[in-house]
Formats: sequence, C-alpha cells, structure tokens
Amino acid sequence: MKDIRTRAVHVAHELEAPAASRPLSVPLVQSSAFAFDSADALAEAMAGPDGAYVYSRRGNPTVRALERTLAGLEGGASAIAFASGMGAISGVLLALLRPGDQVIAQRCLYGGTYAALKDLSERYGVRVDHIGGDDVGEFEALAGPRTRLLVLETIANPTGQVPDLPGLLAAARRLGVIGAVDNSLASPVLCRPIEHGADIVLHSTTKYLAGHSDVLGGAAVFADDALRREVWPRTVELGASADPFAVWLTLRGIATLPLRMREHCANAALLAERLATHPAVAAVHWPWLRTHPSYALARKVLSGGGGLLSFELHGGREAGRAFVEGVRLARLALSLGGVETLVTHPASTSHRELDERALAHAGIGPGLVRMSVGIEDPEDLWQDAEQALRSSFGLTK
Ligand SMILES: *Cc1c(COP(=O)(O)O)cnc(C)c1O
Repeated sequence: MKDIRTRAVHVAHELEAPAASRPLSVPLVQSSAFAFDSADALAEAMAGPDGAYVYSRRGNPTVRALERTLAGLEGGASAIAFASGMGAISGVLLALLRPGDQVIAQRCLYGGTYAALKDLSERYGVRVDHIGGDDVGEFEALAGPRTRLLVLETIANPTGQVPDLPGLLAAARRLGVIGAVDNSLASPVLCRPIEHGADIVLHSTTKYLAGHSDVLGGAAVFADDALRREVWPRTVELGASADPFAVWLTLRGIATLPLRMREHCANAALLAERLATHPAVAAVHWPWLRTHPSYALARKVLSGGGGLLSFELHGGREAGRAFVEGVRLARLALSLGGVETLVTHPASTSHRELDERALAHAGIGPGLVRMSVGIEDPEDLWQDAEQALRSSFGLTK
C-alpha cells in the first residue's frame, strides 16, 4: 500500500457515475484544474472558450450549467458567469472599451456601475455621458462615431424608473452601438431585454436569481455568441470568475425564481397601495403604481412591478431613520432580492455624505426609505410597516 501522505492526496473518486444512475442535482465540480492523458489534448483544450475544461478560471462544468441556464432564461445565445455582479459589469466594460470610446448610460444607475464608469472616464480616457432614459432623441443627439456602449437598467434603484428599452435599444442597433441592460432588479421572469433588442444582459445573481442572501455572483448573457467570444479572453485575464460552489447555490435558487418573483410582486403591490394612502407617507415609488412616472412603460416591458419599492416620509431624515430602526420583522441591511424583507434609509447610510441639494439631484429625498419586499405573509409585513410608521409619524411636525 502507498504511504499515507500519498493516499491523503490521491483520493479515489468516480467523476463519471454509472450510466444507469445519474445524479438529479447538478454535480458540484469544486476543482481548480482538470487532468489530461496527453499533452496534445491539453494544448488543444487551451485553444478557446469551448474546449475541454482545463482550469476553472477559464471554465468549469458546474459554472457552465449556470451559463447555459441563464442564456436559456434570457433568450440569449450564451453567457459568462462571474464572481459578482460588479465582476460582470467591470468585465464587460473593460473587455469592450478603449481610450477615446464613448459610453452613454442612464443617469440613475447602480452606484457601483456609476463609480466604475466615472473611473473609466477619469483614469482611462473613456468618455461617459448620461441620459434620462425616456427620450430616444437625447441618446441619438449624444451618439457619435466612437459611441461603443449604451448602458441601461430595466428597473432603476431606488426610484423604480423604467427606461424606454424598446426605443433606446432600437436606436442603438441602428447606430451600431452595443446595448447592455442590467436586468438584476427585474430578473428574466419580469423582463427579457434581448426581446427588446439588447446585445448584452447583465446580472447581479446575488439578488433575485440566487434569492436567499447567501451567495455573491454575476453574469453577462449575450444575444450573439460572437460577442461572448470577444469578451471571454479579457474576462479570463480579469479573473473575476465564478466559484463553482457559489454557482451551485445560485442554480439551487433559480429553481424557485418564478415562484418567488410572483410573491415578491404581489407583496410589493399590497404594500405600495397601502403605503400610498397612509398619512405619514408623502409618495410611493413602485413602477406598477398608476402614479409612477414610468407606469406606462413599466406595463409594456415588465410582467410585474418587481419586489423593490421606496417611499418618502413626511417627517424627513428623522422619520426615515426612525422607520428603519423601528421595523421588527424587516431588517436593516443593504442588499435586495432575497426571501426576507430588508429596509434601508439612503440619506443616513449609503448617501450620508450628500447634502439636501445633492440628494435631491440624485432623486433621493431625506425621508426616503427603500424596501426590498420579501416573500413573507403580506399582512405580517404590513403590520410591521404600520407599527414602524406610527413611530416615524410621531416625528412629523
Ligand atoms: C447589486 C447590484 C449590482 C452589483 O452586484 P454585486 O453582486 O453586489 O457585485 C449591480 N447592479 C444592480 C442593479 C444591483 O442591484
């Protein structure tokens, strides 16, 4: 028998199960590298993105299962999974942009995307312009010969703004501009941007896709596989590759995505309607609420209003703070898209450096509360919100 040091390393395992009994769940291939029988076979596998698995930064069977699943859900040709949503966004931006190129992006963007674009413009010579999102003419007027990318979000956070996806993506296609849409807040259940003309769909799978607040991940889905082949070598260099175990958890989450989205939307609808009539609440922002400025577009491109809503309290900063500290069932935490309800008060947390004027410019009132509505019983959620509102209402003048 071999020495214990050798046996500790060379664990016996069957990678292939007997043909008559295959696993029901996706096998977790938690391996950094793959073994070959011949040097030629290894060299051949290294030639491109679709050869045999070589090294998990370049590709992995569990990760490939997620990539195929996401491409299928979004109606794309192929996908690349990443370690986080920002890994996917930074990977695509760095892979496609050169100094002198122009990016046109929606004004109300996820903070990390906004910061990544600002960095590209200040340090790498990329020109970045921002547009409102509902005026195709504004985009066409800014676009020029070096416009490479249009960056949009299906549902913006925390305002719930829905840009004119069909109009803007059609204009981008006409002008030869790559249209990229961050679909994290809608998920492919509520919107499939490729159907509206997107070339790339970006995801923070951390949010609704994985859905259980236990894993970070991201993905880029491509309408045309040629674009994935262009992006892939540079994302392998960047190294924000997905970890197989994180992907395995994400795949487990995706199985219940349509069921969860239905509950997120129904719960958010009930809370949005009741909040809108509460005396402590000045305004509610949820795209499927009739009073929302994006209502008409949201009914057109989304099959549900989504699980994220925000509302402005009459009591301003103090009331917003009191609300997020006054909830007992919902929890004060930064993320969104999980099964549990979360609240944040941007003016005293993520945006605390901004004064009233800068906050107003970002579309965030001092008493704005953001709520990621979970899948708990809606009456329990309303009771919790109502008792927290009573304490915040006590602070209004
Ligand atoms: C959270 C989020 C991201 C970033 O994703 P991470 O997984 O946190 O890196 C990007 N876009 C949107 C819309 C998000 O909500």
